[in-house]
Amino acid sequence: DQIIVAIDGYSSCGKSTLAKALAKKLHFIYVDSGAMYRAVALYFLRNNIDLNNHDQIMEALKKIHLNFHSRDYETHITLNDEEVSAEIRLMPVSETVSAVSAIKEVRTEMVKQQQRMGRSKNIVMDGRDIGTAVFPDAAVKIFMTADPKVRAERRYKELLPKNPDITLEEIFENIAHRDYQDTTRKESPLVRAHDAIILDNTDLNPDEQLLFALSKVEP
Ligand code: C5P
Repeated sequence: DQIIVAIDGYSSCGKSTLAKALAKKLHFIYVDSGAMYRAVALYFLRNNIDLNNHDQIMEALKKIHLNFHSRDYETHITLNDEEVSAEIRLMPVSETVSAVSAIKEVRTEMVKQQQRMGRSKNIVMDGRDIGTAVFPDAAVKIFMTADPKVRAERRYKELLPKNPDITLEEIFENIAHRDYQDTTRKESPLVRAHDAIILDNTDLNPDEQLLFALSKVEP
């Protein structure tokens, strides 16, 4: 049977850092589910999709083809064969992705694709609803949290080199806004699965988090 490790939590908590390290160590496939929602949001932005128009959304979803290319353990995602891994991290997408991911039709399609990926391989998947909606039977579930200020500072340091105009304030607000939208939406809101282990990484470095997570996978 396939082994699934589900990592959920708030925005910019270090989920992908941990998920990548874990996948590398275990020789599992790493799947960044947030990248899928981001790529859909990018398509919706480019094509002016009305988020309240069911027919337009369904038409758009039919035209969206997403693919992961895992060369290293970084996220390489294509949207209709175009590499969009960098563009999906920029502010326009970050500002609309939570609204797009709150749409029922969008979630149904993404969850279906995610479940398909877990059918044939051992994977580590990170997101918001992996341990609750996508893989409720995952072997290991980790729910990550961290102080919002620490999260904003980490993300700021990461984005600044390529985005010199970005401000810490704008990142803090974006994180707070996404957390609010993700926890209050109707469809699969972000909640800790009852059987998920909590990992607060405010004061932990990546190596310490990896050791903690490994101890849960290989007790
Ligand atoms: O993980 P990341 O921050 O890149 O995800 C971007 C957005 O996608 C989140 O703020 C959330 O709104 C949405 N998302 C989701 N369910 C997932 C993964 C991401 O709703 N499984």
